[in-house]
Amino acid sequence: MPIDPDFQTKRQVSGEHNGHKVWGTVEPPATLGIHGTNVAVDWDVCVGDGVCADVCPVSLYEMIDTSGHPISNRKADPAREKECIQCLACEMQCPAAAIKITQAP
Ligand code: SF4
Repeated sequence: MPIDPDFQTKRQVSGEHNGHKVWGTVEPPATLGIHGTNVAVDWDVCVGDGVCADVCPVSLYEMIDTSGHPISNRKADPAREKECIQCLACEMQCPAAAIKITQAP
């Protein structure tokens, strides 16, 4: 299932990580929530492919070890989401449709 594009209205902020918000239930290692807001990656959908980090022209992603997660043992973290230039390359190329890019308020 892809990331829910309406997560900002359907989920609550449950915490912070690496300078960005985390949305929804977090119960490691199996449930990790959505990381980031304007560059949002659903870690419970992410397969750790890493194409987002490869194609991002401003290199804002960091790959994070998530050993024990049932889908993949690494996730793309939008560590510097404020630097996003909204090119949508990551969202379009993610094989799991785990990323949602939106305009910052
Ligand atoms: S939309 Fe473009 S700039 Fe923003 S995170 Fe994705 S690849 Fe990087």
